[in-house]
Amino acid sequence: MGEGERGWPLLRVDLLSLFPRMLDSFLAESVLGRALRAGVISLSSHSIRNWATGRHLIADDRPFGGGAGMVLKPEPICRAIDSLRGEGTKVIYLCPDGVPLNAALAESLARERHLILLCGHYEGIDERIRKSRVDLEVSIGEYVLTNGLLPAAVLLDAICRHVPGVLGEAESLRQDSFHGGLLTFPQYTRPELFEGMAVPDILLSGHHKKIDEWRRERQEERTRLRRPDLWEKYVNGSKN
Ligand code: SAM
Repeated sequence: MGEGERGWPLLRVDLLSLFPRMLDSFLAESVLGRALRAGVISLSSHSIRNWATGRHLIADDRPFGGGAGMVLKPEPICRAIDSLRGEGTKVIYLCPDGVPLNAALAESLARERHLILLCGHYEGIDERIRKSRVDLEVSIGEYVLTNGLLPAAVLLDAICRHVPGVLGEAESLRQDSFHGGLLTFPQYTRPELFEGMAVPDILLSGHHKKIDEWRRERQEERTRLRRPDLWEKYVNGSKN
């Protein structure tokens, strides 16, 4: 979909959690903060309790079958999703047993118009929410965090870099690790000599073609040594 067909903001995100203020300072700073202020991306952070009922606005309860901890109840979350979703909305639940987040997934999600990011807490959410309302489940790694807000922040940060206009120079995306199947190349800045370590001569030469070749060689070398799994895919891909 072209940028012109997407409307403005290019990406709308609704974040659903029990602690909607937890990411405030993260969202206010740097690249993501600038994208939000410029209106390229819009983000609304909601408390699940806004859709809870009763005097105590209870959003969690004990698990059926016993066991430790609490589970987020289905009614408030389903009401929240039903009131926030529109045509083409993608509802994503952050969870350790979801599909692993990688650069390709982040890039494909950056083409969506509207995402609802659902953060679990405690022992997670009632399974019936996952079955009836969730379109995609995403894990940020093989470890368990106490709640889904940091995973949502990681996912949002990874996605927003691919939304047109968020990064100052689109070129920087092409230099990143995983773009084109390789890790990145080494970077240097001033001073030219630091603690006896010199910047490679080629980077001072001004010879752009040779610099590009040097960087590509370093990317291949680094990928081969550090990520043989990626290297194998890259080599096989370039043969096809
Ligand atoms: N009992 C759950 C399990 O073992 O899969 C873990 C629940 S965890 C303590 C609470 C919430 O944190 C989850 O519902 C999820 O939203 C979030 N979370 C924790 N680790 C995560 C991860 N690696 N990736 C994505 N979300 C995660």
